[in-house]
Amino acid sequence: MSILKLVTVPSKLLSQKSEPIQDSEFGEELDKFMSDMAETMYAFEGVGLAGVQVGKLKTILVADLGYATGLPYGQGSVKMVNPRIVESSSNMISIPEGCLSYPGLETSVDRADKIKVEYFTPLGERREEEFTNLAAIVLQHEMDHFVGTTLLSRSSSFKRQRYEARLKKEMQRYLKANGYEIR
Ligand SMILES: [Zn+2]
Repeated sequence: MSILKLVTVPSKLLSQKSEPIQDSEFGEELDKFMSDMAETMYAFEGVGLAGVQVGKLKTILVADLGYATGLPYGQGSVKMVNPRIVESSSNMISIPEGCLSYPGLETSVDRADKIKVEYFTPLGERREEEFTNLAAIVLQHEMDHFVGTTLLSRSSSFKRQRYEARLKKEMQRYLKANGYEIR
């Protein structure tokens, strides 16, 4: 297993659409890649990671949903290929969400509190499962990545401007500290 390189702001990749995994792409190799994704997610202490966040524009995600099943963090990872919400509650909840691709950004987004998801395992087995609360939020967040919707694009324009200004400032501080001349 290996830790993959994270795609972060300001990469244009994050606003692009992902393609579904084709029948011929299921198998051991995909399974191994998604194990690397899970290892990467844990290395950065995240609860979910979509393909685009490691530079793969495919509708694949890993998530740790252990809190929903009573497993400790680190032991409840799931791999979902081509997941699709087939049923969605009209009850909405929201909590401040973070994203490994947007360090330091927190935004609350209205999400359905219960969803039924159809997905495939990397080896091609079809599954259908219901998820509630935090697990439902995490999965909706990751599936947002498939269509190029990000936490930043879900933020108010005020928050977005403030975040971008802060990034610029931190970048300048970094360049200065590393001996670059800023003009
Ligand atoms: Zn994210």
